[in-house]
Amino acid sequence: MVTLDKIVALAKRRGYIYPGSDIYGGITGFWDYGPLGVELKQNLKSAWWKSMVQLRDDVVGVDAAIIMNPKVWVASGHTDSFTDPLVECKVCHKRFRADKVDEQKEHANEHEGNVQWTEPKQFNLLTEVYLGVTEPKQKSYLRGEITQGVFVNFRNVIDSSRVKIPFGIAQIGKAFRNEITPGNFTFRSREFEQMELEYFIKPDEKEGERWFEYWKEQRMKWYQDLGISKDNLRFRDHEEKERAHYARFATDIEYRAPFGWSEFEGIHHRGDWDLGRHKLTYKAEIAGEEYTPWVIETSGGVDRAALFFLLEAYKEEEKRIVLRLNPILSPIKAAVFPLVSNKPEIVAKAKHVYQLLKQDLMVAWDDRGNIGKRYLAQDEIGTPWCVTVDYTTLEDDTVTVRDRDTTKQERINISQLVKYFQEKLRE
Ligand code: ATP
Repeated sequence: MVTLDKIVALAKRRGYIYPGSDIYGGITGFWDYGPLGVELKQNLKSAWWKSMVQLRDDVVGVDAAIIMNPKVWVASGHTDSFTDPLVECKVCHKRFRADKVDEQKEHANEHEGNVQWTEPKQFNLLTEVYLGVTEPKQKSYLRGEITQGVFVNFRNVIDSSRVKIPFGIAQIGKAFRNEITPGNFTFRSREFEQMELEYFIKPDEKEGERWFEYWKEQRMKWYQDLGISKDNLRFRDHEEKERAHYARFATDIEYRAPFGWSEFEGIHHRGDWDLGRHKLTYKAEIAGEEYTPWVIETSGGVDRAALFFLLEAYKEEEKRIVLRLNPILSPIKAAVFPLVSNKPEIVAKAKHVYQLLKQDLMVAWDDRGNIGKRYLAQDEIGTPWCVTVDYTTLEDDTVTVRDRDTTKQERINISQLVKYFQEKLRE
C-alpha cells in the first residue's frame, strides 16, 4: 500500500514537487513544481482541454484575470458566504475546521482527551490584495474560484462567438483560498489550479437533471480512461447542509487516498444563482424568448489530480519502483541511451535519434552507468519507453525500444520511431 510519505519523498527526490520557498523553511499551503511536475501538470491540463474543448462542438474556452473588480465577489455571494466554520483549541490555540471532525479527534488525542473548543466562528477564505499607489489603496481579492471569470464574460462570449444554448465555457487557472488547515501534501493548498466547465442550459428541471447526470458520467469516465481504477473512485452526494451557497445539488467524485476518500472534483447544479446575481440573461434567437439560464458545473483541481495520479501509479515491485502513469501523462515519453558511452559512432547515432525525437516528444538523454540502472531511473519517474542505440543500429538503423510496464524489448527502425510512439500515445 502506497503511503503519502513515499510520494512526498519521491516527488522531491526526482523533481516532481518541492515545498514552496524551500530554502527559507517553506510556507504552509504552497508548493512548487519541479522539472517533471510541470510536465505532468501540463499533460493533465492538455488532456482535460482536449476532451472538454477540442473534441466538442458545444464548448469554448476563456482565460480570465485572477484579480477582478471586487463588486464581482459581492454579487457572487463570496464576501458574505465563502466561509468555513473555524474552532480553536483553548489549550494550544491551534485552529481547525469545525466540519472536519476527524482532525479535531486526532488533535484531542494529542492532548490525551483534555481539550476544549471555542464556539465555531465563520472564517472567510478570500485572500485580500491592495492595488494602486494612493491611500486608501483599492482592496480586491485573489479569486477564490475561477468560476466567476466565466460568468462575467458570459455576454462577451455570446456576442463574439457562435455559441447557442446548451453550451459550455471552459477555463483552467489559479485560485487562492486562505485555508484554515492546509495539509495532506498538495491536497489542500492555499494556491492551486482549477479546471472547470460552466455548462449553460434552459431553466427546466428535466434538463437540469439530464445534464447533471451527463456531466457526472463524462467526468468519471475521464479519470478512468486516464488510468484511475474503478475501485478507487466513487460519487458522493452532498447533504443539504454541506452544499455551497450557490448549489442546488452537488456530487463529488472522490478518490480513495491513503488519508481516506477525498474530493477529486465537484459536479454542481448552480441553477440561476450566478447569472441571476450578475443580472445576465440569454435571448433565444428563434423563439425570441429571454431567460436566465441554469448552470451545471464541473470543477476539478489540477494539483489534486497530479497527486492522485501519482498515488495511483506508484508501484513497488520486487526489483524496482515504477510509476505506471498513462503515457499521455508521463513527463518524459522516451529516454534515449547509447549502449556504451565510449564508442563515438554509437554516441553520435544516439544523439541523432535523441534530436530527431525531441522535435515531437519530451525526451531525456542518459549515458551514465549501465543500461539496467538507466531503466530503473526511468521506471521511477514513469517514462514509458527507453530507446537504446547499440552495435546492430550501426548496421541496420534499428534501435531497441523497451516498454516500462512489460519490460519487453522490440527492434524498431529509426525512420518509424516517431510514428510508433505517436500511435502508442493515441491508443
Ligand atoms: P473541500 O471541501 O475539500 O474544501 P470544496 O468543496 O471547497 O473542497 P470546490 O469549491 O468544489 O472545493 O472546488 C473545486 C475543486 O477545486 C475541488 O474539487 C478541488 O479539486 C479543487 N480545490 C478546492 N480547494 C482546493 C485546495 N485548497 N487545494 C487544492 N485543490 C483545491
